[in-house]
Amino acid sequence: MADSDARPAPGFWRDTGQLVSAVGRAMNVTLRNLFRAPVTIPYPDVQRPYPDRFRGILALAYEKETGEEACIGCRLCEYICPPQVIKVEMLKAEKRNYAKTFTLELYSCEFCELCVQVCPTDAIIMMKSFDLATADRRDLLLDKDRLHAIGREFEPSWATGNRLRDMQAPPKPARAEARGDAKGDVKEPAE
Ligand code: SF4
Ligand code: SF4
Repeated sequence: MADSDARPAPGFWRDTGQLVSAVGRAMNVTLRNLFRAPVTIPYPDVQRPYPDRFRGILALAYEKETGEEACIGCRLCEYICPPQVIKVEMLKAEKRNYAKTFTLELYSCEFCELCVQVCPTDAIIMMKSFDLATADRRDLLLDKDRLHAIGREFEPSWATGNRLRDMQAPPKPARAEARGDAKGDVKEPAE
């Protein structure tokens, strides 16, 4: 009677074996990762290098030659924006136009880059940063001054309206001619 009470329940050894095997596999993973280089970084003290086409926070730029605001208030970015988060008022002037007001609701932005693609003067650009986290939604309603300040603070992405449109343009004449010549080289079959 006492002997049968001391006997382990059916399946005890099988369950114990599975448990030990599972713990062993888990410890193996832990040990392997213990000596690996960390994949995390102590952000923001250390920053990762972002790719050139990084689509980060939007900003407004100045003209390189004159230092003037590059935006001419044409409102193309406002028309193209899918969630309609850009509002621009044009200020007409003698030599060129400006944006009288420019607001961008970043909290609803899709980061689609369409506004950058259509901008004729490379005025609206994206920065290589997403560093605008906040608990106050109002901080993400960006006006013209804030957008220019962001443009000065962070590194810009490679993409500008003119560069992006160049990529989509038909081949340059020289290349097209070269291809035409190559086609012209094909001899007509002899009659
Ligand atoms: S990135 Fe897209 S969603 Fe954001 S402001 Fe530009 S057009 Fe609008
Ligand atoms: S940012 Fe560019 S597209 Fe938008 S209003 Fe200014 S010039 Fe026009």
